[in-house]
Amino acid sequence: MIQTATLGFPRIGPHRELKFALEHFWSGDWSAGQLEAAAAMIRRTNWQMQSAAGIDCIPSNDFSLYDHVLDTAVMTGAIPARYRNPSGPSHLTTYFAMARGTGSAPAMEMTKWFDTNYHYIVPEFEPGLEFHASTAKPAGEFSEARALGIVTRPVLLGPFSFVRLGKPRGTAVGRETLTEALVESYGEVLGELAAAGATWVQIDEPCLALDLSPADLQLITGVYEKLAARAPGIRILLAAYYAGLGANLQAALRLPVAALHLDLVRCRAQLASALAQAPGALQFSLGVVDGRNVWRADLDDALSQIHLAIGHVGATRIQIATSCPLLHVPLDLDEETSLDPEVRPWLAFAKQKLEELSLLAQAAERDDGEIRERFAANREILARRQQSARVVNPDVRRRAAAVRPEMLRRPAPFAVRYAKQAATTPLPLLPTTTIGSFPQTAGIRRARAAYRSGHSDAAGYNALLEAETARAIHFQEDIGLDVLVHGEFERNDMVEYFATNLHGYLFTSNGWVQSYGSRCVKPPVLFGDISRPGPMTVEWIRYAQSLTKRPVKAMLTGPVTMAEWSFVRDDLAKREVCLQLALALRDEVADLEAAGARMIQVDEPALREGLPLHRAEHAAYLDWAVDAFRLTTAGVKDETQIHTHMCYAEFGGIFQSIVLMDADVISMEAARSRMELLEAFAGRDYPNCIGPGVYDIHSPRVPPVEEMEELIGQALAVFQPEQFWVNPDCGLKTRRWEEVRPALANMVEAARRVRARLAAQSACRVQS
Ligand code: GLN
Ligand code: ZN
Repeated sequence: MIQTATLGFPRIGPHRELKFALEHFWSGDWSAGQLEAAAAMIRRTNWQMQSAAGIDCIPSNDFSLYDHVLDTAVMTGAIPARYRNPSGPSHLTTYFAMARGTGSAPAMEMTKWFDTNYHYIVPEFEPGLEFHASTAKPAGEFSEARALGIVTRPVLLGPFSFVRLGKPRGTAVGRETLTEALVESYGEVLGELAAAGATWVQIDEPCLALDLSPADLQLITGVYEKLAARAPGIRILLAAYYAGLGANLQAALRLPVAALHLDLVRCRAQLASALAQAPGALQFSLGVVDGRNVWRADLDDALSQIHLAIGHVGATRIQIATSCPLLHVPLDLDEETSLDPEVRPWLAFAKQKLEELSLLAQAAERDDGEIRERFAANREILARRQQSARVVNPDVRRRAAAVRPEMLRRPAPFAVRYAKQAATTPLPLLPTTTIGSFPQTAGIRRARAAYRSGHSDAAGYNALLEAETARAIHFQEDIGLDVLVHGEFERNDMVEYFATNLHGYLFTSNGWVQSYGSRCVKPPVLFGDISRPGPMTVEWIRYAQSLTKRPVKAMLTGPVTMAEWSFVRDDLAKREVCLQLALALRDEVADLEAAGARMIQVDEPALREGLPLHRAEHAAYLDWAVDAFRLTTAGVKDETQIHTHMCYAEFGGIFQSIVLMDADVISMEAARSRMELLEAFAGRDYPNCIGPGVYDIHSPRVPPVEEMEELIGQALAVFQPEQFWVNPDCGLKTRRWEEVRPALANMVEAARRVRARLAAQSACRVQS
């Protein structure tokens, strides 16, 4: 029988048990024993679910209490000195100190995991670091499953990727030396696993699917040669995913491992070349079931790939697998009791994907009545999806096809717009503003929950939101901000709010996926053509503007971010999806302008994370992403000021695209990275207005006036005062009013002081 495999399973539990267990533990309500028991329960449920579905290669050590990269740091002894306590704190204390920081030691850095919405802890390699293996977790979890009668295939994050994902700190030791130094520890772990009874180990090297240099490939080859020699009893499945192996395929095929996994959802073309060059005994894990998305598989298509592989290397040399670990999809569609019955059959969550794997394996072996029937049922579901009027909206298609280049261009160049905007809405030099949201208090969240569950009515809920908006407006006037915002109190989330107000989206009730540690998100599902039944934000902006004479900046989420933070349909190119979103948002922009909004901000915090993993695909992506933004915003008159916001300071490769977006004003993160952004902009003459954040909203700390004054001063070495805006790094919804009030007051004061200084300087110049 052909083997089936999952590369990893969701680890938050059927009802986010991990989140609640962690919160109980962190607050001191639960002991370590209680936390461990909850974790063991999740692992057991996962193993038993996979075993019941007939999966042959079931992973272990794919579970994590916080993050699998952090686990790997602990497993290899890469624990920064600031967490090492000579008096010997418990393992868990150290572990969570690394993840979340303590009073005396800041947390380790966290960043995006490849092109997903998962965040990992960035390993730190300090000078003098000596790796040493601690095998307790992988071996322990293997034995734990074994005690349940399930022999698993343990998963490790490979040494090459682990080092590449980390940062050497102030040390002369390079990545190569670090990677080679790790072999010993990995060898020990493999030895321990073999002793516990494991015969196969899955080693994940997702970095093998990135652009690599010949030196990188040489390094990874050397490492696996040594590992193979070090642990002869273990058969290694090497897994790369999220993209095709591209130019690394040949080297990957030659690695001394027993099996190689291919992500055939992200890159199906690699199968034929892999099979054509397959060395003698190498086995293939065929990632044909999409681990990144929630759609039911096209079984005919998957089976044709499986047949192709069987034809080349025979059934004994293949495994049928998910394209990547199932970390990024919700657990079980059966939990969804209120889904639209038309759409429901189109979906498959982790548990349903297990059924697909097992059905594919059966179909690869026999072609009987039952199999035919089940394949026919699958075909019928896919056909219905394709033909559904909910999926294809001819009006939307026509409109998207009729987009003309001039719709992507503001009629006048920036300089002309700048002058007209300054005349309609005069602002002081260095205008002050915020990024949009104000604190979402417990009171607001309670009221929303009560309203949504039918325990309170719309009138009461709206009255509360209006009161909050009014308070926010008055506060902003009091401290003297120049451009105000309404505060986004009506939005629980910047994507979900708009998704709820558009056609083409659906929502799950329990479709949670891990974002990091205890944090989970429930992305909306974009399943059909996008249209806007009516204005989404206009009344809120109109109301806020009615309360003040100062300009209120309207606030929208951009098309790329809408797509990036949703589960997006797989039957239409993302480019087309973003074009449809842009058209819907363009109408909202027009309505806002017609309602009197003079400033409209379109946030694109996810623009950069949508970058494809292979550099060769960057330019095409950036082209259409910029077009989508321009289509959203270019329909306004010269006097209307378009703002955008992005929350990252890394501009590698995208500076030119940001210029091309041609927003009148852009605000970006910069405070945390100590104005690293300035280096990126220095000497490049960014043409439009810009507000590099001067207040780090990710920390509860209230920055003093002098500090922000200093940051503004630094930035003015790179930007002209006439193009400079003063604002925080990002929205303030996760902060408390007690922090926000003084921090923003300080920010306004800092801007005033710098303004006064500039005025004094120019007065001097005039006199002299
Ligand atoms: N306008 C949004 C807010 O202020 C932007 C959030 C973001 O960039 N992630 O909350
Ligand atoms: Zn932001």
